[in-house]
Order: sequence, then structure tokens, then C-alpha cells
Amino acid sequence: MPGLLDLPRLLAERWRGLGRGLIACCLLLALSACSAMPSADASEAELAAILAQLPDSSVPTGPNPFKTPSVPRNILPSRPANADSLGPVCQAMQPAIGREAYSMANFKPDVRSAWAHPTNFGDRAAVDRNGQPVDNRISLIVLHETVASADSAINFFQTPHPRDEDQASYHALIRRNGTIVYTVPPEKRAFGAGSSSFRGEAVRFNPKLPGSVNNFSLHVSLESPADGRDNRRRHSGYTARQYDSLALLAQQWMTTYTIPGDRITTHAAVDRSGSRMDPRSFQWARLAQRLQLLNEGTIPGCGDSAVSAAQLPASPN
Ligand SMILES: [Zn+2]
Repeated sequence: MPGLLDLPRLLAERWRGLGRGLIACCLLLALSACSAMPSADASEAELAAILAQLPDSSVPTGPNPFKTPSVPRNILPSRPANADSLGPVCQAMQPAIGREAYSMANFKPDVRSAWAHPTNFGDRAAVDRNGQPVDNRISLIVLHETVASADSAINFFQTPHPRDEDQASYHALIRRNGTIVYTVPPEKRAFGAGSSSFRGEAVRFNPKLPGSVNNFSLHVSLESPADGRDNRRRHSGYTARQYDSLALLAQQWMTTYTIPGDRITTHAAVDRSGSRMDPRSFQWARLAQRLQLLNEGTIPGCGDSAVSAAQLPASPN
């Protein structure tokens, strides 16, 4: 798995990718509304210096960080009474876990990194341009789809974009086979949603651009199916492995940054331009079931579980 020790190879791959520039449609749509801060092109040495300064926790080095989930034998899922007033993943919780969720058992996603060019992401700023404090604590997970292929999206992220309106990135994307590709370190601010807000929360830096959720969000994108490479409202959806990896990644982020299930949302939901639909054909129940499986039947932040693990019946064997 690539890490800082693989930096020369990562850099070589990065520069080989420049200029190919196939643009993910989702990103293309997002370009006019990105609330990015300008940054100059960085040389390879500058890029290496930036990556070298990142805290260890931001770069997936060493062993694969995902634990292989085991299937709990006596799981008795519960659906909180107040789930309907919470976010979509809470609303999608079910009283029984379906068979598909168990596909996560013994699955360990392949994890790679393909870092975006520094012009395509920034810092999570603590103050705005007037010196006023703004919220930069990571507290929201935003789901997207690539529309184009994952490779096209990565090529776009790795292409320098000095103009604010051209910049775009996610923190991670998930290929059709479930491979997780990190593209922006979680501590950094990815430019995933332009004009956007979540329950009224948005941060504005550039007076020429509308506020966005980017300063406090983690963005993850699912690679679209072949029949989703257009702007129709629906397509054939995402693979079971994509849902498996998304659940594992979301679980890791929720644990690391104390993000409740109630704060998992979509680009379509936070978008204020009215033009974003992604991720299209997303099935919340498939994510909710997996998160329930990882959390003994409930989802943290979705309300109190009616049945705790301690109350579960003994194994029949
Ligand atoms: Zn999007």
C-alpha cells in the first residue's frame, strides 16, 4: 500500500496523469460553484514538503487500517423510535439485518492513495477573511458519485487547477470493486460541494463565491456504473462491495471524528444550486444495514438503541 515512503512513485504517477484531464461530469457540474481558496501551483518539491508535513494519521501508511469485520452471532437489531426525525441513514434502519449486509464478513477493502494536486484542496480554516472564527471541526460526511470513471476523477484531481472555479476534489472515492482510494487527507479541506449548506450550516471565505459545507465535511464518492455516465436521474446503482467499503470508511470516520449517523448526507441534499443529483440511485438501507451490523444493531447518533448488546440472547450453540 502506498505511503510516504512511496512518495517518489506517487509523484511520478501524479505527473504522468497530468494533462489527460478527462473531467468527471459531477465535478464539471460542480466547477462553477466551488468555494475554493486560491493556491499557487506547487512544484514537486513543494508537494513533497506538504505531504511530509501531514500528521501520520492523515496518510494511510502501514497495515491496512480496516479491521476485517466478523459477523456477530447474536445480533438483535433495533430501530430507535425517533429515527424518522433524524437523517436518511437513521430513517433507513431496519429491525432485522438482511442477508446482503453479511457480505461484509471477512471483507477487507483494498486501500490505495492517489493524492490530488495541492491546487485542488486547501486547509480547514479556523477564521474567515475578516478574522472571525468559523467552524472547522470535521462533523459531516457527504456522499457523491463520480459519474465518469474513477480514473477520470483521479486524473482531474491530479491536474493543477489554479482558478478557483476549476478546483474540485473528494477525500476518497470507492471503485466498483470496493477499492478505497484516498485523494485528499482528511485533515485538509476538499472542494467537494460548491454552494451548499447542511441544516443552515455553511462557511464562506471568498466574497465572490457562496458559502459551502467544505470546511467541516468529509467527501466520499462512489464510482458510477457504466449506465450512469450521463445526467439521467437514475442508473443501475452501486455494487455490494461499494456499500461494504463505504460502511467501513464511514464507520472509521464516525469513530475518529465523533460524527453521528444523523450527519451523513448527500451532495444533492446539501446543494443550494438545485443542479446536483448525486449520488443517484443510492440505497440508504444498504448502508444502514451494514452500519447496524458494525454497531451491534444500532447506528451511533441515530438515537438510543432499545436493545443493548448486554441484553442480547445467548448463542444457540
Ligand atoms: Zn457531487
